[in-house]
Amino acid sequence: MKTINLSEVRDKVKDMVQEANFELQDDVLKVIKDMQAKEESPAGKAVFEQILKNSDIAKKDKLGLCQDTGLAIFFVELGEDVKLNKEDGLGSLKEAFEEGVRIGYKEGYLRKSVVEDPIRRKNTGDNTPVFIHWELEPGDTFKVTFIAKGGGAENMSQVRMFAPAAGKEGLEDFVVEVVDTAGSNPCPPIIVGVGVGGSFEYSALLAKKALLRKPLGSHNPDPFYEDMEKRLLERINNLGIGPQGMGGRCTALAVHVEAFPCHIASMPAAVNIQCHSHRVLKFEL
Ligand code: SF4
Repeated sequence: MKTINLSEVRDKVKDMVQEANFELQDDVLKVIKDMQAKEESPAGKAVFEQILKNSDIAKKDKLGLCQDTGLAIFFVELGEDVKLNKEDGLGSLKEAFEEGVRIGYKEGYLRKSVVEDPIRRKNTGDNTPVFIHWELEPGDTFKVTFIAKGGGAENMSQVRMFAPAAGKEGLEDFVVEVVDTAGSNPCPPIIVGVGVGGSFEYSALLAKKALLRKPLGSHNPDPFYEDMEKRLLERINNLGIGPQGMGGRCTALAVHVEAFPCHIASMPAAVNIQCHSHRVLKFEL
């Protein structure tokens, strides 16, 4: 049995939302630099230079990498043997996450990007509510992954329900079509998260989880999906959209595919697009 203080969760969340918004992590920078070296278009090369310069300034001056500091989305692996110590005025784990985001976004001068109603659109003023996907695990694990998800890339994401006969060709054509339709809107070079299988809603969750894979550009351990990731990256980078839509060889930095069992009559598929401002961080207690 492990005991975790809610104040510790709040403080870790407060720090992680700022660090994620100020610094591109090493694995992301590595892929960006590798792709920069391969980019042939002068305009595309110039965009890469701007992205790297922006990243240096954001890290040094503790400024948001992008004005869109995103929805605060968390994936939490919570062990059944974890005991939560409710203290410091925090009554629940969810409250600790909300408070960490509230303080972190305020302290870091990060834009508050959440409206309290999708139609009436009044800003909640503190970037809450947070979006938490809980996964109950055996043991005393407590792992948190954060992704700041900007609206531009999220808006270009899609879910589609296929008949099983669509197969890998149908899935791959769909992924390329989604990226092609998105064009410059999601601020390429992008990361493409693909979820296939599960159910309607689960495929979307898989696609988002695919974006969290570390290091960026690593492959699915199943060779079938590894090959698919490689083929998709090549097809997407042959579209010619290029960095920020300026034309070029690099439209995507990586394609990550996650699969899951599904109904005999269905093949749900989702594509979750992430921009080059790929703000993902993890912590473990
Ligand atoms: S898509 Fe990404 S880089 Fe573009 S504005 Fe949104 S958060 Fe910023």
